This record gives sequence, structure tokens and C-alpha cells, in this order.
Amino acid sequence: MKNIAVIGAGTMGNGIAHVFAQNGFNVKLIDISEDALNRAVATITKNLDRMVAKEKITEADKNAALANLNTTTDMASGVSDANLVVEAATENVDLKLKIFKQMDEAAPADSILATNTSSISITKIAAATSRPDKVIGMHFMNPVPIMKLVEIIRGYATSDATTEAVVDMSKQLGKIPVECNDYPGFVANRILMPMINEAIITLHEGVAGVAEIDSIMKLGMAHPMGPLQLADFIGLDVCLSIMNVLYEGLGNPKYAPCPLLVNMVTAGKLGVKSGEGFYTHVRGSKDLVVAPNFNK
Ligand code: NAD
Repeated sequence: MKNIAVIGAGTMGNGIAHVFAQNGFNVKLIDISEDALNRAVATITKNLDRMVAKEKITEADKNAALANLNTTTDMASGVSDANLVVEAATENVDLKLKIFKQMDEAAPADSILATNTSSISITKIAAATSRPDKVIGMHFMNPVPIMKLVEIIRGYATSDATTEAVVDMSKQLGKIPVECNDYPGFVANRILMPMINEAIITLHEGVAGVAEIDSIMKLGMAHPMGPLQLADFIGLDVCLSIMNVLYEGLGNPKYAPCPLLVNMVTAGKLGVKSGEGFYTHVRGSKDLVVAPNFNK
């Protein structure tokens, strides 16, 4: 398994391409947008430069990693010799079903098709292909070059051989793979998102303010950041969409998204990506300033 194709060159795709290229795999990074590919290569180069500066890798390691990386906007040729394809395109179920159908037609019959989806059913994605036994979730965490976990999600039809190959591959990247089964939210988001949603309900009910909720959870639980700050980083639209997957998929009212979360997303307050969520986010500044709506 030497040839890897990564589909989608955004936040996650560039990180996934980075770790494969740095660990000696031939990587084809594929996106519909030439700009996204150029930005991804610039980000990977910058991140490798930072590792050289910190003496974690040598200049020769950096050059070898970049030499392992190729980009293309042509999916069919990009996946034609791939042993493993990791899909990290936009989180949209119809798009993923379309991509997996295309990949299934263009990739070698024995290659494994993995998805980095945060919440879409692996079993559903697999059903769009003629090889559901070779479809699996390979859920990397953000930022990919730094975070150790890969949540390995077995769909209903995923074979043992596919799971073993992807577990082994994750270890070759220096990651720690942990297996789970395909149910809404898998494990990471099934537990994380209700905690974030509960923090938003706690704020909405006036139990405490933004800074107080985050301080209590950060200092009391030894979390690196509070749940509201984390929600801003993940994106409130992403949090809402995952809560909806849990709510609809598990049919339990305890997963209903907080109305405040729904309102904020409707108002375009999405967190870091829109400049405001529970905090205001100024590019280049690390100061934590509570957003005006919560500072009255
Ligand atoms: P992103 O928006 O940063 O990047 C998505 C990329 O996919 C874009 O560059 C877009 O041009 C590309 N794309 C769209 N349609 C395509 C197509 N048909 N073919 C090829 N490329 C296409 O998204 P992201 O945050 O990197 O998320 C990607 C996936 O990873 C999603 O499934 C998401 O749920 C998952 N994920 C995200 C995070 C996170 O923290 N951002 C964490 C874990 C998993």
C-alpha cells in the first residue's frame, strides 16, 4: 500500500496529505479547485518549514515529503493507481455519495475507499459503491499533523481485512488508531457534541456567562479549552449539523440542538470562520474576547 489519493484539499485534506507524504507514501491530492490545491501545498510547505525550524525533521526530510506530493483536479486519473483513497471533501451527504460512486468506478477494484466524515453514515456511503466491504471511516482529528487519534469506523459491511489494513496504515503514520462501529456521531462526536450543546443550554438558561462556563470546564476538567471556545473553533454550523445527525439518527430528545445554537447559525455567527461566535475572533490575535451579545 504505497499509493494514496486524498480527495479534498481543505483544512483536513491538506493535513492528511501532509502526514502520508511525510511518512514516505506517494500522495495524489485531488480537489475541484486549483486554488484550494495551491493553498494546500503552501500550507503543507509552511508546516514542514516550522518542523524544520523546531528541529523535528531535517531540510532533506522536508524536501522528500514535498517530492512525494502531487496535485490534480482530475479525480479519475488521481485515483487510478491508488491502493487507498481517503476522502476529505465538504461534509455533504449527496456530495459524498456522488464522490464514492465516481471513486468506485475509477479506482482499482482492490483498493480501499476511506472517508474522513465527522458524522455521515459509513454504511450509507458504502452502499453507493460496489465494494462495501472495502469502505471504512478514517476520522482524523484537526490539526492532523499534531493530533494522535484516528477514529476507525467500521460500516455494517466493512471486512476485517479492510479494518486491519487501515489500522496498520494509521500506525505507519505514527497515529493511534481506535476502532468503533458505525452509529450516529461514532464515538468522538457522540460524546463531545452533547457536551458542547449542554454548555450552550447552560449559557442560554443564564446559569453562567461564556467566560465562566469555559473557565469552569477548562480548569475543573483539565481540558485545553472550554466547550464554547471549542465550538467556535469547530464552527457552530458544524456543531449544529452533527447535533441534528444525533437527534435524527438516535431519535432521542436529549440530542435536540439548543435553540440558541440554531439562532446563532441562522444569524451567521459561526465562530472563528465568520469572526464571531461566543467570542469575537480577530485574525492574528489570540486574545479571548467575549462576543458583544454575551457581554451585556
Ligand atoms: P473544507 O471545507 O476545509 O475542505 C473541503 C474541500 O473539499 C474544499 O477544498 C473543496 O473544494 C473540496 N471539494 C468539494 N467538492 C469536491 C469534489 N467533488 N472533489 C474534490 N474536492 C472537493 O472541509 P474540512 O474541514 O477539511 O472537512 C473535510 C471533511 O473532514 C468533512 O467530511 C468533515 O466533516 C471532516 N472533518 C473535519 C474536521 C474539522 O475540524 N474541520 C475534523 C474531522 C473531520
